[in-house]
Amino acid sequence: MPILTKALQKTAPDQPYRVAQIERRDPRPNDVVIAIKAAGICHSDIHTIRDEWGKAPFPLTVGHEIAGIVEAIGDAVTRHAVGDRVGVGCLVDSCGECEQCLADEEQDCLQGNVGTYASVDRDGTITQGGYAEHVVVDERFVLGIPKGIELDVAAPLLCAGITLYSPIDRWGVGEGKRVAVIGLGGLGHMGVQISAAKGAEVIVLSRSLAKESLAAELGASRTVATGVEGWDEELRGSFDVILNTVSADLELDRYLRLLKPHGAMVNVGLPPGPQSIKLGSLINGGKVLAGSNIGGIRQTQEMLDFCAAHGIGAMIETIGVDAVDEAYDRVVAGDVQFRFVIDTATFADAEAVPLP
Ligand code: NAP
Ligand code: ZN
Repeated sequence: MPILTKALQKTAPDQPYRVAQIERRDPRPNDVVIAIKAAGICHSDIHTIRDEWGKAPFPLTVGHEIAGIVEAIGDAVTRHAVGDRVGVGCLVDSCGECEQCLADEEQDCLQGNVGTYASVDRDGTITQGGYAEHVVVDERFVLGIPKGIELDVAAPLLCAGITLYSPIDRWGVGEGKRVAVIGLGGLGHMGVQISAAKGAEVIVLSRSLAKESLAAELGASRTVATGVEGWDEELRGSFDVILNTVSADLELDRYLRLLKPHGAMVNVGLPPGPQSIKLGSLINGGKVLAGSNIGGIRQTQEMLDFCAAHGIGAMIETIGVDAVDEAYDRVVAGDVQFRFVIDTATFADAEAVPLP
């Protein structure tokens, strides 16, 4: 029997959120049933729900920063047990057989991964995300949340955390390296903490100095306000790596000039429109312009363990299910320090629209 669960649902980009009952599939032998306790709000949820990345499939529930407790398991499940503290990020399935999956890079599955929401699942249904009371997920895509991290501060690690951990690892951000993080939002504040914990010198490039003291608390040695005329002059040629987390258009040539020769600018922010650069900005100095998409499941577990070992979690503001529309506007306005997390206990008081 499918499981009925309360979820936050939108029927169109311009409609407010409503609490509705949605169905989760009848658990299969390899499935884990999770009682969700906390769900982070990623800017990708907003791009999706507002049709900024193309038309989204409505009615839709988003959310891919999920933390909760295992409530039930299928007969064949071996990795998780009832009562375990677990998380789910942006992926809920992949082919498991292609060279990318075999290399633990399920996000790049050659058959196409199945995203946690707005994605076509193997059974042809559209996946529904984590702003809900329950979710059913194949055990291979369920992560263990280590002791020492509360579920609410762990939830944002499942997307924001891995999205920065992966390029930080790949591009060798660590001791003796100077890294810039552009944009101090949900992703950016994870990038600062993880880079600092790896031993790098971290400089935040933010539009203003409003978050300067918080950036320092997170491990940045300095914040530079990019809204000030001439802000970039003294920084030219000074970074090994630049991590761009900005959700909007940016003058990339200007930032590429801040790299040392052979340095890399890695883009994780995904603004809706095309970006342009002059190729000279790369050719002079042999620089690299790269991208990075979340990370694989093995690395996501490694990231969770790293964060637990270093006392790293998201800095969050907790909200109820009735405050998500307002929270979206605040994220877009840059008015959150640094991640909104939905407390799913607040579904209890909400009347749900029944299944059609
Ligand atoms: P967020 O919390 O809104 O942070 C984005 C930050 O970008 C803001 O805090 C702001 O930093 C800066 N910013 C916003 N508008 C700007 C503008 N017009 N000019 C310059 N800077 C601006 O968003 P998020 O959740 O971190 O997500 C950031 C982006 O990453 C989104 O596009 C999201 O879809 C994408 N994303 C990608 C992946 C991936 O796998 N690659 C995963 C998750 C999310 P300051 O206030 O400090 O300037
Ligand atoms: Zn995300």
